[in-house]
Order: sequence, then structure tokens, then C-alpha cells
Amino acid sequence: MSPAPARDGRATPKRVAKKAASKAAAAKKKPAPRKAAAKKAARRRAKIDPERVRRVVETLARHDPHPRCALEHANPFELVAATILSAQCTDERVNMVTPQLFARWPSPAELAAADQADVEEVIHSTGFFRNKAKNLIGMARRLDEVYGGEVPRDMDELLTLPGVARKTANVVRGECFGLADGVVVDTHVNRITKRLGLTEESDPVKVERDLMALVPKDQWIAFSHRIIRLGRTLCPARKPDCARCPLRDDCPKIGV
Ligand code: SF4
Repeated sequence: MSPAPARDGRATPKRVAKKAASKAAAAKKKPAPRKAAAKKAARRRAKIDPERVRRVVETLARHDPHPRCALEHANPFELVAATILSAQCTDERVNMVTPQLFARWPSPAELAAADQADVEEVIHSTGFFRNKAKNLIGMARRLDEVYGGEVPRDMDELLTLPGVARKTANVVRGECFGLADGVVVDTHVNRITKRLGLTEESDPVKVERDLMALVPKDQWIAFSHRIIRLGRTLCPARKPDCARCPLRDDCPKIGV
């Protein structure tokens, strides 16, 4: 005679097997977390009116017809160095420091041979100077030893340079070689595109993904420069000047 089924909620072998089977079926149905997040982001983007995005892109272009990188530089090596220095520092401050840096060490070979303490002294006011000096020398050394003193164009190769992450690589490829792999997401782009309702993300990689899906590829480089300029002028973190902002008719956060 088979045993009577347990009525008190105890875990019988049959119940355990049934629970495991239903768990496995549920897990099969559920999309992987990463896929689910990507789907959610795609749904969010689909809700954004493409006409409004077009107006934002065009209005910015009218307002700022000749966008340029605010970091002063004469060649790709100088731009890589300036961008490394710009982490957690204003471009104005970097532009004050780089003339002396490039006068003392004008080429990758010279900067590669520099004494770290000397570099630290020159770049001290940009903050995080120890790490930045180490990265500058490491970057110059790699350019000198591996790339014959030239900055590579390839994204993967750029990312092997010390101190160069995707944001820096995007800046350099866009500004020096006219190559657009993505949208540069710095603190201004991160803040303003959220205010404009173009993304809800805060992680720069996710913000970039959202913007790449919304902004035409031939506008990626210019769009970043224009938004960064807007962030420095009319739309800073505190007290944006919405009354004078050219995007006021298309900005859901007007008056934040
Ligand atoms: S309207 Fe205001 S919040 Fe919106 S982008 Fe312009 S300055 Fe920033």
C-alpha cells in the first residue's frame, strides 16, 4: 500500500520534485537579467518621440554651428594627454596646465623618459596628480615603444594605453580622426541628456548606448561637443538658465 500524502505541508519527495520542476520552468521563461534590462531600455527609448529628438539635435546644431573640443591641443598625443588630465577637472584648468607640460615634454619619447615627480609638480593643480602622472608617463611609453610615437586610431589599441578608457578613446577618435564609435559621455552629457529625457540611466556606458540609439551616427561627435558646451554655459548642474536655453521648448525638465 502506498503512503498517504502528507497534509501538513511537510516536504515529501514528490513535492520536492514538483517544486524543482516548476522552478526550472519559471527560470526558462524568464529572460536573462542583462537581456531583460536591454529590453526595458529599448521599450523606454521607443517611448521617446523621435521628432523631439530630431528637434533637439537640429536646434543644438543651429545654436552651436562650429562645435569643437574645449581641450586645447596641437596633435593626437597632446589630446590624449589633455583628456587624461581632464578626469575630475575642468577643461579650463587643464588648458592652463598643458602649455607647460607640452613645452617640457613635447613628444611621447620625451614624456616617457620624464621623472614622475617632475610631471606631478607640473600637473598638481588638476587633482589626482600621482595617478595622472603615472598614466601620462605610461601612455607616452607605450606610444613610444609600441606605436612608434604615433597615437593609434584603432579603438582596441587606444584602450591599451594607460589612463585611456572608452570616453577618452571616443574623444580622440572623433576629434583627431573623424571616426565616430560612440557618443562621449562626460558629466555634462550625463546630466543634460537625463534632463532632456533622452535617457534614465546614470552609468555612462548605458547612457551612451541610449544616445547612440537616438542620435544619428553622423552627429555623435558634434552632439557631444554641443551638449558639453551647453553644460558649461546655460545648463550647469546648479541653476540652469532655462529662460535663455535654445532647448527650452523640448526640455521636460525646464526650470529644474
Ligand atoms: S531647458 Fe533648462 S534644464 Fe533643459 S536643457 Fe535647457 S537649461 Fe537645461
